Amino acid sequence: MTATELLAADAAGIARAAALLRAGELVGFGTETVYGLGADATNERAVAAVFAAKGRPRFNPLICHYPEAEAAFEDVEAPPVARRLAEAFWPGPLTLVLPRRPGCRVALLAAAGLATQAVRVPAHAAALALLRAAGRPVAGPSANRSGQVSPTTAAHVMAGLGGRIAAVLDSGPCRVGVESTVLDLSGGQPVLLRPGGATREAIEAVVGPVRLPEAAHAKGAPRSPGMLLSHYAPSLPVRLAARTVAADEALLAFGPPLDGAGAVFQLSAAGDVVEAACRLFAGLRALDAAGGVRAIAVMPIPATGLGLAINDRLRRAAAPRDDPAALA
Ligand code: AMP
Ligand code: MG
Repeated sequence: MTATELLAADAAGIARAAALLRAGELVGFGTETVYGLGADATNERAVAAVFAAKGRPRFNPLICHYPEAEAAFEDVEAPPVARRLAEAFWPGPLTLVLPRRPGCRVALLAAAGLATQAVRVPAHAAALALLRAAGRPVAGPSANRSGQVSPTTAAHVMAGLGGRIAAVLDSGPCRVGVESTVLDLSGGQPVLLRPGGATREAIEAVVGPVRLPEAAHAKGAPRSPGMLLSHYAPSLPVRLAARTVAADEALLAFGPPLDGAGAVFQLSAAGDVVEAACRLFAGLRALDAAGGVRAIAVMPIPATGLGLAINDRLRRAAAPRDDPAALA
């Protein structure tokens, strides 16, 4: 990749950053919490590029950023409790996890295949101007390489991701400096998934008691779908590294497909792991719904580049369902 552009957070810099985002490029941008690694969230390839640039060994679901609550609520269901929180905290360091609406514009890969989507409106003038100019949801995990600390200056982003992304919009150091609080509203009672810039006390003042994930995990606690599972798993058993396939199995193919499957979804005919990442969750969902098959057989996928994250996700999908490690 060519040199990463360092853009000033003025009108010209913001226009340039927005144009790069719309073209599917990655742009680091400051928010009040930490610098985000921005990508057009509606563009599956741009989202795949985020995981590649970060060197993430796993597909974690990403937070989508919007210039205002109304734009966010086009993509996710917004029950009254979400509207109250948005009213009280947005723009600000609170991320809400809500059910994706039918027709949600955000790529399934950005939700790591889940039926929920994390959304936020940041309290930062340059970030809001960028989001308005981009005119679409912007996925933005922290702009650091996987395993490194979150960046709070443009220089941090350059040090970690320079040469791997198109540009960084330099809006100075971050005011809050810790990540946003992540609150899951997709189940019954709100669950605090990650502490952050918005305090539990302030949230509880608006919506009443909030649970911690440990309490929700406790033995015998009711389990709401999508609340605890931080990954998508198909309901059919998954068989990995398939060299043959039976007529009563569905096949998740990578490269020239094996003969004889009851149903086939091609991840990438050319054997391209980036294309396969883009199609992974759609493929698992399609085969899960195929009908007339008892399992999903998955052809071997190389553990290079995004193949690492694909294999991680498939291993979790194939693990016994009572294995807690597979749910993490
Ligand atoms: P980062 O990518 O560094 O900004 O971190 C995003 C955080 O939000 C991670 O802790 C994710 O697990 C969490 N998150 C994002 N989307 C979801 C979702 N749909 N369900 C649960 N947690 C989510
Ligand atoms: Mg992070």
